Amino acid sequence: MIVKKSPAEIEKMAAAGAVHTRAMKLVEGKVREGVSTAELDAAVEKLIRSAGAEPAFKGYRGFTGSICASPNSMVVHGIPGPYRLGRGDIISVDIGVVLDGWVADGAVTFAVGPVTPVARKLLEVTERSLFDAVEQCRPGNRLGDVSHAVQARVEGEGLSVVRSLVGHGIGRAMHEDPQIPNYGKPGRGPLLEAGMVLAVEPMVNAGRHMVRMGDDGWAIYSQDGSLAAHFEFTVAVTEDGPRILTPWHEVIGVDRRAAESAA
Ligand code: MG
Repeated sequence: MIVKKSPAEIEKMAAAGAVHTRAMKLVEGKVREGVSTAELDAAVEKLIRSAGAEPAFKGYRGFTGSICASPNSMVVHGIPGPYRLGRGDIISVDIGVVLDGWVADGAVTFAVGPVTPVARKLLEVTERSLFDAVEQCRPGNRLGDVSHAVQARVEGEGLSVVRSLVGHGIGRAMHEDPQIPNYGKPGRGPLLEAGMVLAVEPMVNAGRHMVRMGDDGWAIYSQDGSLAAHFEFTVAVTEDGPRILTPWHEVIGVDRRAAESAA
């Protein structure tokens, strides 16, 4: 059952999302060679708690971090720890925030200094596929339109959608119905209605689509060892169209995008 949210409830989720956005901006400022993922985690937890919120992931099924930090071929669910970022790494950071009982969830994959052309393309295509999907989050569309938008972009660029991991509805619980695959047929699946809130999260491998679980029982890696990226928004379906509730794109990568558009 898909739980719809009232406009007032969506505002509360947006308030959680505002804390989320500040946390992601903090991460962007700290991502550099030599920083450990535990240090990123500690900084984010401090910011979230000082905002009167709680990290959604900490304690979830025993997860020990406030963020998931997943470098290079790790797709998602990396436990923060002693790993130190290296020049040329990519690092996926997923953050969940609970404020007044409402959850906001979002992820960004960052480049650590200059990265290979393969890595740059992977980040750009995965982020673009997320925006393609958001565009479909409108009343009257179907969930398959959202899923298909990701798949079309990713596969059109010769990359692979991870099929065994999905996005999800979100609200008072981090994971609500529906599950949101990153592949599917347009015009299929549940009808989207105003008040639905979706965590849309393309997970993309530069190589093939299969994944494997790591020894810690959390980390998910691309099976072929290829680089993997993850971008995520919490997005509300409203009468006025999609509303991004975790708008990290307004603060992250702004300098890079400006430089690219000037070039
Ligand atoms: Mg999520």
